[in-house]
Amino acid sequence: MIGIGYHDLKGRVVVATEDIPSGVVVCSSRIRGLAPERDRYSLQKEENVHLYIDEPGQIFSHSCDPNLAVRDNEYGAFDFVTVRPVREGDELSFHYGMSEAESVAVAACCCGTANCQGRSVGFWELTDEQQAVLVRLGVSDFLRRWYEGTSRPATERHYQPYAALQTQM
Ligand SMILES: [Zn+2]
Repeated sequence: MIGIGYHDLKGRVVVATEDIPSGVVVCSSRIRGLAPERDRYSLQKEENVHLYIDEPGQIFSHSCDPNLAVRDNEYGAFDFVTVRPVREGDELSFHYGMSEAESVAVAACCCGTANCQGRSVGFWELTDEQQAVLVRLGVSDFLRRWYEGTSRPATERHYQPYAALQTQM
């Protein structure tokens, strides 16, 4: 269903090896280790828990217009699920804001989509509308809880320093 390809700028990428409908789990990842702190390769699981997952999950690129969403899975890691039909040969990617409250992974995004934001942007940095779009597609349980649990005015929800957020909880 999926395989590894190569992109001039991104390096290894994950591509569809056949047409895949929407709603299909293309990868069910497992935990490979715990990251001491957020880094370019870790995925956020809880407020202070950052995971390394196995391949090919580890390889998925960021896209500002993703064809995958994330879903917490039974292994304590994430499933990656198509959110629209994907054609054979398409690169598979998710929005790193689906798992990361803040994203440090991609300083210069080359997803090439019309709504590219220029870099990978964490969930907390997105606008209300952008957050709503990602929540509808599928974000981590941690970010969904944060999104649904907030009673803060919408304008104050964006990109607050981490310490400020913690004191409000
Ligand atoms: Zn982009």
